[in-house]
Amino acid sequence: LGRHAGDARPSGFDYHGVHFGQDNLHIFAGLCAVDTREHVEAMMRALKDNGQVCTRMGAYKPRTSPYAFQGHGAACLPYVFELAGKYGIQVIAMEILHEAHMDEIRKALAETGHPTGVMLQIGTRNTQNFELLKAVGRQREFPVLLKRGFGITLEESLNAAEYLASEGNDRVIFGLRGMKSNLGDPHRNFVDFAQVPVVKRLTRMPVCIDPSHSVGSREVGPDGIPEVFQVTAQGVIAGANMVLVDFHPDPATALVDGPQALRLEELPWFLEDVRLAREAY
Ligand code: PEP
Repeated sequence: LGRHAGDARPSGFDYHGVHFGQDNLHIFAGLCAVDTREHVEAMMRALKDNGQVCTRMGAYKPRTSPYAFQGHGAACLPYVFELAGKYGIQVIAMEILHEAHMDEIRKALAETGHPTGVMLQIGTRNTQNFELLKAVGRQREFPVLLKRGFGITLEESLNAAEYLASEGNDRVIFGLRGMKSNLGDPHRNFVDFAQVPVVKRLTRMPVCIDPSHSVGSREVGPDGIPEVFQVTAQGVIAGANMVLVDFHPDPATALVDGPQALRLEELPWFLEDVRLAREAY
């Protein structure tokens, strides 16, 4: 996936009618964790009403505590895929934690008539889970969103992406989602979106930003603008190709990361803000 002198290979790929490249931008607004069918439907309806064809939906959740909600797993896939078909969602970014999850996704897609595409997400806790990377790299069906590891160097995370490509799957998007720091930062993670152009210079991968997991809150600045909006705009102006962002119809009842989820009513405003930032890029 590295960019070498004289490398004329194009960046990006097509999947389920959507082109992912270093030259365009897609927004994956959605639920950090699927909780109820009603919330999935409200989210997807809002996306359709706002002209969106991509979303994020968490079925398998990597939680810090074993006592925290772990996601509905395979149980929610049938209604997630069915509703995606109903609302014209072309691609769902969905984290997997184990290679067996790919089979569960395949099975649910087949049973629901393949109404949508799935982009497998490998989260920051699994960036260096090499056996998972190899297994995901061996399959050609699903593209992959690989998040940067939150406590390793950029070079190490880029090598993790090569694990996918070296096994044959080069349909990879690289995700920046903030870094852990011991500096007592006001954000949940130290925002690393200044590295968007660096990753695009070093590799052929489209670059995703995840402002929700970087900022970690719905905090609003003195200008009345949520910090997630401003941090997103920074990443988009830096050339990001994909924005993964948490929304929820009722953040107070969200089972995972409610404090950082934007409210559904804010979706049109968020999309307009991203459009303006992209124009400024
Ligand atoms: C997520 O996107 O739901 C997630 C857990 O992200 P990260 O791996 O960046 O923490």
